[in-house]
Amino acid sequence: MIKIGMGQDLHRLVSGRRFLLGGVQLPAEKGEAGHSDGDALAHAVIDALLGAAALGDIGGIFPPSEPALKDADSMALLRSAFGMVKRAGWRLVNLDCVVCCESPKLLPFRDAIRASLSEALEVPAEMVFVKGKTAEGLGPVGEGRAVQALAVCLLERGDSPVMRKEAKHEAEIRN
Ligand code: MG
Repeated sequence: MIKIGMGQDLHRLVSGRRFLLGGVQLPAEKGEAGHSDGDALAHAVIDALLGAAALGDIGGIFPPSEPALKDADSMALLRSAFGMVKRAGWRLVNLDCVVCCESPKLLPFRDAIRASLSEALEVPAEMVFVKGKTAEGLGPVGEGRAVQALAVCLLERGDSPVMRKEAKHEAEIRN
């Protein structure tokens, strides 16, 4: 079986906070507000994974009212959420993400972010992609007051159509 999941998150950008995306700190004047470390991309990925596996959502599993999660490392939360997904029998096929912010430009940091996410999710880096977009100066993202992250993932478990096709192909080669 294969299942798609999607996640979205938006955090305000404020002075005196780090700007973290997928566990990578980017140079920026402002950073993400949040109860945890504010890593909007990590949060979107967590929701994509949990959604695909129908295991809940980040707000329910890591509630912002929980004092222990104050300034929490969002990549640790991601590893914890992925652990739940794995225990349910799923493995990640691929992850695709979009980050919308006016600055800084994401491209110089893309490969570091991909490496960080792929390491946490136990897949090769080519199974993870991240694209940066601006909002053309429009809305809270365009005005530099927020960062938005979107993530889509594909999970696979058991005898998915992809695995059946691969098995059939293998059998054909052998015969
Ligand atoms: Mg969040």
